[in-house]
Formats: sequence, C-alpha cells, structure tokens
Amino acid sequence: SLCYLNGRYLPLEDAQVSPMDRGFLFGDGAYEVIPVYSRRPFRLDEHLARLASTLAAMRLPNPHAEQEWAAMVREVVDRNPWDDQSLYLQVTRGADMRRNHAFPEVVRPSVFLMSEALVTPSRELRESGASAVSAADFRWLRCDLKTTSLLANCLLRQHAVDQGCHETVLFRDGFLTEGSASSIFIVRDGVLLAPPKSHLMLPGITYDVVLELAAVNGLPHRVQEILEDEVRSADEVWMTSSTREVLAITRLDGRPVGEGRPGPVSEQMHAWYQAFKTTVMRG
Ligand code: PMP
Repeated sequence: SLCYLNGRYLPLEDAQVSPMDRGFLFGDGAYEVIPVYSRRPFRLDEHLARLASTLAAMRLPNPHAEQEWAAMVREVVDRNPWDDQSLYLQVTRGADMRRNHAFPEVVRPSVFLMSEALVTPSRELRESGASAVSAADFRWLRCDLKTTSLLANCLLRQHAVDQGCHETVLFRDGFLTEGSASSIFIVRDGVLLAPPKSHLMLPGITYDVVLELAAVNGLPHRVQEILEDEVRSADEVWMTSSTREVLAITRLDGRPVGEGRPGPVSEQMHAWYQAFKTTVMRG
C-alpha cells in the first residue's frame, strides 16, 4: 500500500523513521483512525478537530492546516486500491539526537499517513454479537487524548483475547468508562444510556454519531454516569468505534447480556448508522 511520510508519498515497505523519533522512544505522538466509505472520509472534520485538541494538550503545534490535512488524506485514499479504507494518521514530536524527556528545542514533527482495507464486523459476528470481559481501568487520567502511548490499551485488549473474547469493558471506581478501543453504550428499559464525556474516556466520533441518530429518530436516550451493576443487568450492551461501527456485546464475563442475542435497539441503531453512512457517501 501507499503511505505518506514527512512530505513524500511512498510504498509502506520503503517508509523509515529514526529510532530516535520520540514516537518510538516515548510514545510521544497523536493519532486518528478515519473510516473511508466509497473513497469518502467519514466525519473528517470531526477527526481533524479531535487531532487538533490532542496536539494542543500535548503542546505540539499542529504541523498542518485543516485543508492541508484534507488534501493529504484524499491523496492517500486515491493512491490506494480499496473503496472502503481505514485511514491511519499519526503525528509525533519527531527525532532528537539526545534522549531527553523534555521537548527538543527545535521540534520537527514526524507526520505519517497510511491506509488499510476497512474491515467492519462480519455478518456472523453481528448476528451472534461480540463477547467481552471486564477489567479495572488502570489507564492514566487523560484518556480523552488520542495518543500513541497505548500500552495500557494493548494490555487490556490482550486480556480479552487471552479469554477468547473481542473486547474489554472498563470500570473505574465502580463506573463504566469505555472499552479498550471502543465506546460503550447500554440500553435499560428502552432507554439508551451513555457515559458522559470526561478526561476518563475518549470522545468517540461514533459515540457522537450514535447520540445524534438517537436524537434525530426520537429514541429515548440519556448521558449519565453508569454504574457497573447497571451494565451487568442491562438489556443491551454495545460497543461503538469507527471500524466496529455499532456492535452488540452479547456475553460479558461469560454471562449472557439480556437474552444473549443482539437486542432490538442495537439492530435499529445499526440500521440507522448504515443508512446515515450511505447518505453521506452520496452527498
Ligand atoms: N475509546 C477508545 C479507547 C478507542 O481507542 C476508540 C477507537 N479509536 C474509541 C473509544 C472509539 O472512538 P471512535 O468512535 O472515534 O473510533
């Protein structure tokens, strides 16, 4: 596949960065994953806005204006073979020839874009629903930032994979935060519930789309703190993300969620989401 690295478009196999890059040494970088449907990036402005807020919190000047980012994204999408893509974008604080935690005096950020074929959940997985385990959320207190320092997320995802499961649902101090790489929603008595955005979770782009679709379609919904017990006794539990879209979780810690099948509200939301994608693709 074709990627972009620091001003050049080149085959991914040929792309190289310095081992002194602070992304490699410290995980000192920001990233985004943008779904592309029929060669059109979905919610690009929102992804670029989230990138800008991660960079601002990192005190790393944004190396590109929004129109420049959009042009680079378009170029990488156009130069790759798939209609539906998962576009990955990363900015690190660049290389410095001395290893030092403090920022270099002159910062030359490393900018990298690549693309893969977009793989959304299979029909079988959507029909069975995903399995999840739970874990204590031991990440840091800036989970609202989309940084490449992902060791905790990797350990938490592997915790699920070790048990043959798809995702780990995280609880902090008895409250639901999110998944290792997804936002989590629940349904109780026909009401869709989502945890409020805070420094303890990533502000998901799909999370926003789901709440917009609930509002537009008149689905009762509330954003409020969700207790661990409310998740365990919920009628439905879902995970959402740019690549998993809306996916029901039908087993949690080996016990069925609700009836153990994807519930009607998740199926309705999945259908709304697919229809919404299609209108954006045509627009
Ligand atoms: N939370 C975490 C920790 C994630 O890694 C992701 C996926 N990037 C999400 C939530 C979902 O975010 P989005 O809907 O923007 O993909």
